Amino acid sequence: MSHIKIPKTNMIVDTSIKEKSLSFSLTDDQRDIQAIVREIAEDEFAPKAREIDRNHRFPRENFELLAASDLCGLTFPEKYGGVGLDHISYAIVVEELAKACATTSVLYSAHVSLTASPVYYWGNEEQKQRILTPMSQGKKMGAFALSEPGSGSDSAAARCMAIKKGDHFIVNGVKNWITNGIEADYYLVIAQTDPALKHKGLVALIIEKGSKGFSFGKLEDKLGIKGSSTCQIIFEDTPVPIENMLGNIGDGFKVAMSTLDGGRIGIAAQAVGIAQGAWNHAYKYSKERVAFGKTINQLQAIQFMLAEMAVEIDTARLLTYNACALQDCGERFTKQAAMAKLYASEMAMRNTVKCVQIFGGYGYVTDYPAERYMRDAKITEIYEGTSEIQRIVIASNLLKEQ
Ligand SMILES: Cc1cc2nc3c(=O)[nH]c(=O)nc-3n(C[C@H](O)[C@H](O)[C@H](O)COP(=O)(O)OP(=O)(O)OC[C@H]3O[C@@H](n4cnc5c(N)ncnc54)[C@H](O)[C@@H]3O)c2cc1C
Repeated sequence: MSHIKIPKTNMIVDTSIKEKSLSFSLTDDQRDIQAIVREIAEDEFAPKAREIDRNHRFPRENFELLAASDLCGLTFPEKYGGVGLDHISYAIVVEELAKACATTSVLYSAHVSLTASPVYYWGNEEQKQRILTPMSQGKKMGAFALSEPGSGSDSAAARCMAIKKGDHFIVNGVKNWITNGIEADYYLVIAQTDPALKHKGLVALIIEKGSKGFSFGKLEDKLGIKGSSTCQIIFEDTPVPIENMLGNIGDGFKVAMSTLDGGRIGIAAQAVGIAQGAWNHAYKYSKERVAFGKTINQLQAIQFMLAEMAVEIDTARLLTYNACALQDCGERFTKQAAMAKLYASEMAMRNTVKCVQIFGGYGYVTDYPAERYMRDAKITEIYEGTSEIQRIVIASNLLKEQ
């Protein structure tokens, strides 16, 4: 097992840079990160991806290796256990992981961008020391709990209740589809304090595994990302100390939406990685498979598929980096993150289907990874806002700009 450490650097998170345009080449630091994570992913994660998928096995050892390599706090300052890199580096890491093993990329992005990030952006100093630092060090794993059995896209309709009683909230309700479900230590839970206030009544609470009245429900049996732990979490009169509230009562919706902006960049990068991984396999196979006396990469039909896939992957990657660059400059990036997520996820679905096609019959069976990439791609069109919701976000931002 390799223990390559990410070099500590003061690199970016420099919000003084107010450039809107994106440089079209990676910096030396970003290339270094790419090379390091590619090596870890190819050597350690790719060889196990099939077994993880077939056994629906959560790869805890992959998370531990990411932690040992200083990747769990990638975008956070050193004082909170991180390495202070920018969000393009984050997208690069997620892409490299997804190329090798989509399950590993999702456990990582749910930890970093859906749970640790909101503690960094919304937490007070004490919360950053107590909650963010062990997450950055990979000593604690995070999960994000917004969706419920009766509400996903319509997240303001959350029915999980948090009633304030003295210095505690008492939480009751069920959260659905929680990534890192059974495995996590800290759960960022969005709950309702007053249904009459709708989204203005929501609160964001960090609830710890082992809290009184906290249990797990159904573990989902999924189409793809099968090694990822996805389950219901249940709260029955669970006391949560007020010190575990991020922001104030009423900030829950803002915490959730701003978290999803960053999270969508992670899903876009995941989709790019899945598509690139599928492309790499299809390309390699096309050089080996012989039909009508020549390798199929000499057939123009196959060449055109590979060319179109490559164009779309590059387009999605650039949209993703663009959203990251805006985030790093401290600009609003809601629209660009939604654009990147929408395009990249639909691109990954189209391209993994083409990958299966290039493999012919071998694409349809589990001996080759083509079918796994296709199954893994589908979720990127659904979680952290479906494609329909991304179109709504993009359109509403465009209308505001006019
Ligand atoms: C594997 C997996 C992991 C997940 N991980 C997490 C997690 O860690 N944390 C978490 O909180 N959630 C998680 N989710 C939940 C996920 O974010 C939701 O499933 C998703 O947001 C869609 O919500 P829904 O399933 O309730 O669908 P619905 O909201 O019921 O939508 C059903 C359909 O209606 C469409 N639709 C809904 N509203 C509109 C509208 N206004 N206009 C047009 N079309 C609309 C949708 O696009 C969709 O096609 C996960 C889901 C899965 C499957």
